[in-house]
Amino acid sequence: MSQKSSELKAQGVDVINLSVGEPDFNTPDHIKAAAIKAVEENYSRYSPVPGYPALREAISAKLKNENGLDYAPAQILCSNGAKQSVCNAIMALVNAGDEVIIPAPYWVSYPQMVKLAEGEPVIVEAGIEQDFKITPEQLEAAITPKTRALILCSPSNPTGSVYSKEELAGLARVLARHERVIVIADEIYEHINYIGKHESIAQFAEIKDRVVIVNGVSKAYAMTGWRIGFIAAPEWIVKGCNKLQGQYTSGPCSVSQKAAEAAYTGSQQCVEDMRQAFERRKNLIVKLAKEIPGLEVNSPEGAFYLFPKCSSYFGKKDGERVINNSTDFAMYLLEVGHVATVGGDAFGSPECFRMSYATSDENIVEAMKRIKETLARLRQKEVR
Ligand code: PMP
Repeated sequence: MSQKSSELKAQGVDVINLSVGEPDFNTPDHIKAAAIKAVEENYSRYSPVPGYPALREAISAKLKNENGLDYAPAQILCSNGAKQSVCNAIMALVNAGDEVIIPAPYWVSYPQMVKLAEGEPVIVEAGIEQDFKITPEQLEAAITPKTRALILCSPSNPTGSVYSKEELAGLARVLARHERVIVIADEIYEHINYIGKHESIAQFAEIKDRVVIVNGVSKAYAMTGWRIGFIAAPEWIVKGCNKLQGQYTSGPCSVSQKAAEAAYTGSQQCVEDMRQAFERRKNLIVKLAKEIPGLEVNSPEGAFYLFPKCSSYFGKKDGERVINNSTDFAMYLLEVGHVATVGGDAFGSPECFRMSYATSDENIVEAMKRIKETLARLRQKEVR
């Protein structure tokens, strides 16, 4: 999709891009200033593999103050982004043949990372009718003696769904009965949350020693390119990840670590300002999407994605062109409507498609107008 989108742009077509997975804001000034200072102060050498002690202490304090969770700096390992953090945990924990439960829709990389570790992804489907969240019963039914981990993403990419404290408690009760299962809790969208306080599954004492929290600065502080993420986990898991990371990447970028430290220890107003902008855009895109016939839309409570169900358009035709699945659907929106989105197939949910609203209000309004007109055309074509 992004290749096609670039091709169209190169031909001079004005494409609106709703396919990106990153904030459109710049990194806040005080964070950039800390990085400049770090360069000037010669933070130019290898850092310890798990990150500078000061950054791990800042993360430990963040977990205590924001989440009420106790993690010593020795239980924290910084990496080149939340992506490496998830991958480290999977590679350290999953052996060949181990099963890893992944609720669908899922972030595209999870099943591939499990396969890298020679594990078996076990996909548990959660459709729009259950707000894209799995139930305790589904989790229980998916667990076998081979299950090694559950990957839980809340707030979710691609759906924007957020598990409530009660829903997490239900899952924790199931997990408490299965001592071999580790939860990899991807909380990278923690701060982009429209229902107030973020809830972590690590808050449940009966399973806390089997939870790996994954988080980082990418989304909350508009720092996707700086590449700093972390895990907070029991020390034996941190040690395993540290061994792995020590062999294949070492500690993450020294200057970025100093920037991340400033992000965690500085004013959090920038996070709230961006969150409010995302909330305004969320309200706008949800309202406009609900006005488009044939799309089924949930009310996302976090992240910056909308994941409407579009399968009512499958089988419809425009001339020789037939929309058979969500990839065809997204390609049609791109080629005819000049709006780039992502088909749900990539996220294990072929009935839906993903729109990112990490873009301006004007772009959102124009994109939704184009999508509405494009789909109206598709409906008329089919009737003829
Ligand atoms: N997890 C999820 C659910 C994500 O959407 C992303 C980024 N798209 C990541 C992890 C990776 O984040 P980072 O940039 O910190 O590696």
